[in-house]
Amino acid sequence: MVTSASPATDSVAPVAGEAAAAFEQGLDHLSPNRNLAPLTARLDALGRLEVGGVALGELAQTYGTPLYVIDEETLRATCRAYRLALAGHYPGDALALYASKANSSLAITALVASEGLGLDAVSAGELLTALQGGMPAERIVFHGNNKSAEELQLAIDRGVTVVLDNWNDIELLSTLASGRAKPVRLLVRFTPGIECHTHEYIRTGHLDSKFGFDPDQLESVLRHLAGCPWALVDGLHAHIGSQIFELEPHRDLAAVMAEALLLARSLGHPCGDLNVGGGLGIRYVGSDDPPSIQEWVRVVAGAVAEACSQRQLVLPRLLCEPGRSLVATAGLTLYTVGSRKQIPGLRTYLSVDGGMSDNPRPITYQSLYTAVLANRPLAEGTDLVTVAGKHCESGDVLLHDVRLPATAPGDVLAVFATGAYNAAMGSNYNRIPRPAAVLVHDGVAEVVQRREQPEDLLRYDVLPHRLLPVS
Ligand SMILES: *Cc1c(COP(=O)(O)O)cnc(C)c1O
Repeated sequence: MVTSASPATDSVAPVAGEAAAAFEQGLDHLSPNRNLAPLTARLDALGRLEVGGVALGELAQTYGTPLYVIDEETLRATCRAYRLALAGHYPGDALALYASKANSSLAITALVASEGLGLDAVSAGELLTALQGGMPAERIVFHGNNKSAEELQLAIDRGVTVVLDNWNDIELLSTLASGRAKPVRLLVRFTPGIECHTHEYIRTGHLDSKFGFDPDQLESVLRHLAGCPWALVDGLHAHIGSQIFELEPHRDLAAVMAEALLLARSLGHPCGDLNVGGGLGIRYVGSDDPPSIQEWVRVVAGAVAEACSQRQLVLPRLLCEPGRSLVATAGLTLYTVGSRKQIPGLRTYLSVDGGMSDNPRPITYQSLYTAVLANRPLAEGTDLVTVAGKHCESGDVLLHDVRLPATAPGDVLAVFATGAYNAAMGSNYNRIPRPAAVLVHDGVAEVVQRREQPEDLLRYDVLPHRLLPVS
């Protein structure tokens, strides 16, 4: 196993022995978000890496690369971990909602819905995907700090709960919903004023955030809504950020939210739901040590129950919105190794056939990843290389200074834990088509997103007649 070391710390990349241990840890179904590899990662009889009973090298041959691979068993296990932990640790009703911005597709929606979870969507596209993927409208909440009138109309027509984020939402909804027979079911989002240690782009709980009402405004918002017949304020929402390993901020959040719940109920709002957001981090490299889903839920559920009982509040239904910790470790990406550039005494670049268009996290957040060769996952990492993408950007590097066995063009590289915020944040930079995604399960692979073709990228181009080349 090779681990992407931060260029700044220059730490030594661990090698083969740890890989075997990591695969064994992969068998620990109790804490799926703590593993680098999907739960079903195994070595086949030839020593090749297989996931979901399918050899990754063969997947690359059949479906081409770059290829997103999603392990159904891992995804189901993380869903169950949330469901069971909530049932075990929270004394009232609870529901985990999948934050679908992490990876939105019909297949993932269908899997998550079949495991009994709900879903959070933030655009018409995510909402339509959720509804068509079979997620019941009553289990969907609709977020966004700048929802359009069309998006709000879609949400209320379909009976989806709307998370009010700002006064603009209130104004738009008062126009769209005031004539309706049934009020719109709402959660009110506010910024709880909680700091946590994560990348500043994915922090949302501190006061200087574009999301949600300022806590100082919450009372006047709730008072205003008490006079709106179209509004049914059935809960509160806050979310403190993403890829968080600490538990303390979530515990603090429970107290802040219970206080807000007390206020909202005192103003006559039913507020049956308390939605504490998502944010649990996952392990991308061996040194990451996130809490397990069970630990996270135990702390959050315990803190909410305690904060409510201290204030003699009837227990709300507890909602949480995990994204990354549900899907990240279920996914991996396969690339084919191509050219190599050796700069003597400096660095060796190994280029693969994807990059920042299928995984923008390294260039955006300096994120680290772990990779192995699909057909020789335990081979000793003898070469120190930097794995670069094929885009016209020097920063298009997927893994900095990692140890890999000697490679040749055509070798297949598997990068772990790419199930969240990879496909979802992907682009067509350099007019590179989006990869296909396959779902693996019990030795069978099924395409769940077709590979885009270069011609597809011309679909929305229009060439004005006067610019047509004269022949
Ligand atoms: C991004 C987001 C989530 C999910 O965050 P993760 O870190 O992926 O668990 C949940 N709720 C809201 C409102 C979000 O913006």
